[in-house]
Amino acid sequence: MSKILIVEDEEAIADLEKDYLELSGFEVEIEHRGDVGLKRALTEDFNLFILDLMLPEMDGFDICREIRAQKNTPIIMVSAKKDDIDKIRGLGLGADDYMTKPFSPSELVARVKAHLARYERLIGTGVQENDIVEIRGIKIDKTARRVWVNGEEKNFTTKEFDLLTFLAQNPNRVFTKDELFREIWDMESVGDIATVTVHIKKIREKIEFNTAKPQYIETIWGVGYRFKV
Ligand code: CA
Repeated sequence: MSKILIVEDEEAIADLEKDYLELSGFEVEIEHRGDVGLKRALTEDFNLFILDLMLPEMDGFDICREIRAQKNTPIIMVSAKKDDIDKIRGLGLGADDYMTKPFSPSELVARVKAHLARYERLIGTGVQENDIVEIRGIKIDKTARRVWVNGEEKNFTTKEFDLLTFLAQNPNRVFTKDELFREIWDMESVGDIATVTVHIKKIREKIEFNTAKPQYIETIWGVGYRFKV
């Protein structure tokens, strides 16, 4: 099922869009803040984005630019002002479509379907793109299982890679060592939660500038770890 992210601060509009898209069989998530929307857009798998232009914390221009730097996922931009639409087109941010509010929800659904179909054709005819997670200088290619830190490739063992990827895909969430052990190591594996500590140390040596002051994987004393965004 195609999953769509709507970044829109007007709740009534976001809810209306969501209702219509869900009726058409899409899975829809809503974020009201621009910065939060961007974070999710970059770290989660969505098939299409609907971005409002004026948003709290970060506007649609910047979100569109940031998404395009990393993903080819279709983007539909919406704005209340016709002038803004002309401006976005002029900037060449790489959005796939533009709509001026108010628009009819069925028009939105039609365009969503068209862009998803076009994108699927594009993917289908070309080489499948690798699944990439990118956060503050760390780039993880999940398909090729390769990692770059500030452009330099680093080698990770299988479990180190799995642990780093899991944390990076769930940023700003604190996980206990127990949770991480259960998540990354299967039930039969020999070891205990100390294994997690050892692996975190190894990962930090590869990704952190100063392991004494980690900028990526933070230790939450008495609780566990989190990947900071
Ligand atoms: Ca708005």
